[in-house]
Amino acid sequence: MNENKKIPLKVFIKTFGCQMNEHDSERMYGILSDHGYTFTHQEKEADLILINSCSIRQKAEQKAFSILGRYRALKAKNPRLHIGFCGCIAQREARSILCRAPFVDLIFGTKNIHRLPQLIEKMGKTHKPIIEVIDDDSGRFEQFLGKIRRENHIKAWATIMQGCDNYCTYCVVPYVRGREWSRSAGDIIAEIKTLALQGYKEVTLLGHNVNSYGKGQDCTFPELIQRIQPIPGIERIRFTTSHPKDLSEELIVTIKDCSKVCEHIHLPFQSGSDKILKRMRRHYSHNDYLKKVDFLRKIIPDIAITSDVIVGFPGEREEDFQQTLQLIETIQFEGLFTFLYSIRPQTTAGNFSEQVPNNIKQERFNILLQIQNQISSARNALLVNTKQEILAEEILREDKRTSSIEKLRGRTRSNKIVEFEGSSDLIGNLFEIEIRKANRFNLEGIIL
Ligand code: SAH
Ligand code: SF4
Repeated sequence: MNENKKIPLKVFIKTFGCQMNEHDSERMYGILSDHGYTFTHQEKEADLILINSCSIRQKAEQKAFSILGRYRALKAKNPRLHIGFCGCIAQREARSILCRAPFVDLIFGTKNIHRLPQLIEKMGKTHKPIIEVIDDDSGRFEQFLGKIRRENHIKAWATIMQGCDNYCTYCVVPYVRGREWSRSAGDIIAEIKTLALQGYKEVTLLGHNVNSYGKGQDCTFPELIQRIQPIPGIERIRFTTSHPKDLSEELIVTIKDCSKVCEHIHLPFQSGSDKILKRMRRHYSHNDYLKKVDFLRKIIPDIAITSDVIVGFPGEREEDFQQTLQLIETIQFEGLFTFLYSIRPQTTAGNFSEQVPNNIKQERFNILLQIQNQISSARNALLVNTKQEILAEEILREDKRTSSIEKLRGRTRSNKIVEFEGSSDLIGNLFEIEIRKANRFNLEGIIL
């Protein structure tokens, strides 16, 4: 393949969006490295730039298109540069991308990643834009056959399921990622055993609705966790994202019983108003959510809970917003991702009446953020003077003169970032740290 001079060799991937997208980019790097491609961190040095796009909110789409404009300018200066567009936007609107940006050389969907080398080869031969979007389930298994090239060597993502059948009325995921399906437990375990042999210490089980894992398989999510727990070398198990309706008592007990499963759950609640939850099609109420959290905290008292919330969903009145604030005050989340509702194509909520004006959305967003910031700071402050188990993950700052390491970064089991002083040989190790200072978004400590 390298002999074909028309095929670009140095690749740069610009990734937008969630961990699924980041993991897809690792998959693209893996497949391409198997086919002799090299990589660069500098857009200007690349022969091929791939934009792995996100379409979860309008803003995410705008970001992908604005960077496309920047790459167009690079291409004007360097005619050898090829530009590819993939990910969730490409899955839904491949043709319109080409109308909007005719200089794009390659467009492929979220289910075509395993076909990337062939697509690039075709692009090199035809000199015409190539579009390929698979919208059925063919290729479901092939996508897991290629190599994955991970940047991080301590913690890894492992996909256990993909797609979503929930069709929350605001969400584009079912339209860009397709129907929900689960990988076989055997394949997942084999992948994690390989990761352990390669020296990975932490694995995060990934899926759009991870705790509904098991459709079409004879293994449930709690059983899967129980099978991962004994794998030697893996010290920590995490999973994301969980849907509240699928958070069973059995799963909660499994998290408690499996020592490697970290005490953290990301459990998006989206709204505190029953009226809005119904319109969102979330299948739980304000009280259901509180009850689940009560049980979680009863069984695992030190569990850290983070969440997602949408403000300004169509029909959200002041009293609905107040119920969201009430839920936040009651639960006291460790952290919260707050989103302004944005209309997504094909979704039911896009046609709902009573769309909330932007200024009101923004006002509510600001109020919510201010309250949550105080809660996050207070939750972090509770950890000062406690001892926490840390996995040292990366070097934060190096003293160039003495080449001794000054600052390292790691995470607690509850997924809080901790900065501390230490030497580079600590990376990848678990040890105890005493927390000395709490900031809103991280902690500082000393090694005991
Ligand atoms: N599967 C996960 C969420 C995936 S999307 C779950 O069910 O919890 C990540 C987050 O984006 C969602 O939790 C939601 O808060 C937000 N989101 C999704 N669609 C949105 C939209 N149209 N407008 C604003 N936020 C949205
Ligand atoms: Fe989207 Fe709802 Fe599925 Fe999450 S559960 S991916 S929010 S449709």
